[in-house]
Amino acid sequence: MRQSTLFTKTRREAPKDEVSKNAQLLVRAGFVHKEMSGVYSFLPLGLRTLERIVNIIREEMNAIGGQEVLLTTLQDPGAWKKSGRWDDAVVDVWFKTKLKNGGELGLANTHEEALTALMVDHIASYKDLPRYVYQFQNKFRNETRAKSGIMRAREFIMKDLYSFNRDETEFKTFYEQAAAAYLNVFRRAGIGEKTYRTFASGGSFSKFSDEFQTVCDAGEDTIYIHDGKGVAINQEVYTDDVLAELGIAREELREAKAIEVGNIFPLGTKYSAALGLTFKTADGKDEPVWMGSYGIGPGRLMGTIVELLSDDKGLVWPAEVAPFRVHLVSLGRDGDAAARAAEDLYDALRNAGVEVLFDDRDLRAGEKFADADLIGIPTRIVVGRDSSEKGTFEVTDRATGSMELITREDILRTYHA
Ligand code: ATP
Ligand code: MG
Repeated sequence: MRQSTLFTKTRREAPKDEVSKNAQLLVRAGFVHKEMSGVYSFLPLGLRTLERIVNIIREEMNAIGGQEVLLTTLQDPGAWKKSGRWDDAVVDVWFKTKLKNGGELGLANTHEEALTALMVDHIASYKDLPRYVYQFQNKFRNETRAKSGIMRAREFIMKDLYSFNRDETEFKTFYEQAAAAYLNVFRRAGIGEKTYRTFASGGSFSKFSDEFQTVCDAGEDTIYIHDGKGVAINQEVYTDDVLAELGIAREELREAKAIEVGNIFPLGTKYSAALGLTFKTADGKDEPVWMGSYGIGPGRLMGTIVELLSDDKGLVWPAEVAPFRVHLVSLGRDGDAAARAAEDLYDALRNAGVEVLFDDRDLRAGEKFADADLIGIPTRIVVGRDSSEKGTFEVTDRATGSMELITREDILRTYHA
């Protein structure tokens, strides 16, 4: 993509109405636009990054047998009344709306009810199980605090997967596969080393759920990490009883602030029983389906990457989630030799299948470098006078700042799809 055609502008100053680092940098770099508090639109660079994250998650969900769907945002109160969660006193983040001719609708904050009701049409016998269904879909939550930028939005995309199993053993096997897939997601997104599987509060069915918490000072949660076991305990379940149950002593733990990037949840038969999702067993009995739910917020994950990896110059994207692989910066002017060398390398990289942002704008070098640092694409290739005269290009790693002079041939050998 030619940067001269990109409609978004970068800003030198942080927006005054943002307190979080992720929102400040993402707005400055033109990745997102704040519509109002807790509500963000994704612009071309931001959308590309979000889509790369979504694709990592999609690959990992497909690898454990997930089938993708897209359910609606408008929800039927009927299903929620059956599970007892329509009441604002039970779920305090509801956004609800009204039909013209009377009657209420819900704006989705999660999809256990809707999907369980839907699966009644598709699951009848033990032969129809197990099933794993997921989506990337907009959730609405009337969050009271919206100070964490895109990490806590009132409208956000969630990946939510729901598991449907015959019995508890089959459920548990899948649950562990899902936990492993989650760790793959966070590793591939570049935050694996700081992300811990964390004992957190469960629901009416199980004592615990498992959160995935990324250690970061900007986090809203407090966790206690056991380095030896590589797991953590959320403050909300950090009691003497729980420590005894887990065989962990207080002295073995260190406290840290963390961001909840994912949450997986055993549901038992709570929703299947309430909504009539039963199946015939091999010996002809009717039993409720065993369920679990598995959420990740791709936007929260993107914000977490910013909080953890960015520096005082701007964003720093790991290669797997970066909006482009290479930022090609031309220092040429008006079709001079350097400008021609840059055009030539742009074509060659694109032909090799490399995603390139090509800074072909008529601006001073300093401005272009500042923008490149702010936008945070992993590799910057500068095309200057030396490139046309000596055939070498300055290649800089955004994360480490290390620079090398590399020939066109070596660039094409290193960067290809
Ligand atoms: P929190 O405790 O932070 O409010 P939650 O426990 O209510 O989150 P879940 O219902 O477990 O959230 O949602 C699953 C995942 O969706 C979370 O782990 C997180 O990644 C993401 N998520 C939840 N709320 C938001 C939000 N307001 N904005 C962006 N992502 C969110
Ligand atoms: Mg949660």
